[in-house]
Amino acid sequence: MKELVVISGKGGTGKTSMVASFAALAGRLVLADCDVDAADLHLVLEPEIIEQEDFSGGSRARIITEKCSACGKCREVCRFNAISFDGRENHMVEKTCQVDPIACEGCGVCKYFCPENAIDFSRAVNGEWYVSNTRTGPMVHAKLGIAEENSGKLVSLVRTQAKKIAQEQKHAIVLIDGSPGIGCPVIASITGADLVLVVTEPTLSGLHDLERVADLTKHFNIKTLVCINKWDLNQELSQKIEDMAKQKNLTMAGKIRYDQLVTKAQIKKQAVVEYTQAGIAKDIVEVWTKVNDILGCKREDDER
Ligand code: SF4
Ligand code: SF4
Repeated sequence: MKELVVISGKGGTGKTSMVASFAALAGRLVLADCDVDAADLHLVLEPEIIEQEDFSGGSRARIITEKCSACGKCREVCRFNAISFDGRENHMVEKTCQVDPIACEGCGVCKYFCPENAIDFSRAVNGEWYVSNTRTGPMVHAKLGIAEENSGKLVSLVRTQAKKIAQEQKHAIVLIDGSPGIGCPVIASITGADLVLVVTEPTLSGLHDLERVADLTKHFNIKTLVCINKWDLNQELSQKIEDMAKQKNLTMAGKIRYDQLVTKAQIKKQAVVEYTQAGIAKDIVEVWTKVNDILGCKREDDER
């Protein structure tokens, strides 16, 4: 079983649209939507949820009003300014302390110092994750709560579950829609993967983002391919991206033209290659063929 991760320097490069097409072309594989801060693969693949679980990325402090003597020790030691004297009165004081759940980083220091044992520190639910059936195979995806962090942990969980399903159901590929950027969630998306495909576009930020992402995958020693989406919108910058890929020892997986059919396919909730076999679809098939060859995976059907 191989893990292929599709990433981009930032959102909006067409990464997810490409993942949906790859899934349709591969036949059956396991999908992992690791773009948990802005998951949108489900918009195209319309998953039928068969399993749903809470995600807890850590604990969070909550002051038990009845026990708080308003000594202020917790407020003093909280480095994240998450505690204020805005809590309700109790039988001892007119105002107690309370924790702002969004500002609380769950370090637990306040609980340690509270002389009244008035701080509850239990596991917080930060989101949900799901296993679904889609027309291209099983998919693991997730939703992080508003203003919740720890998406790196959720990404790791989604990947682990996807790998488990691939092993149990004997799928050859786990296709990961990775998080954008170069932060913790994208590191969690690529660590230990077999192959990374970077989707970029011919803009100055696309060129700059590719450089950063290439440094990241080099650091983790993961073979990296590059695909330029909408390459014909700026052929000069596309050439610069190709030059940089060469300079950084990255393999070009191909170039995909700009085509308004992408929007039409999205409206129909279809992957581009499901919507059409012409124009852009040919480019996507070429990229997928190259990626699949390098990944070294045969379809399960081919192996029988
Ligand atoms: S340290 Fe404990 S008792 Fe003191 S203000 Fe904070 S919660 Fe209340
Ligand atoms: S757990 Fe840490 S961040 Fe949260 S309120 Fe307590 S001291 Fe502040």
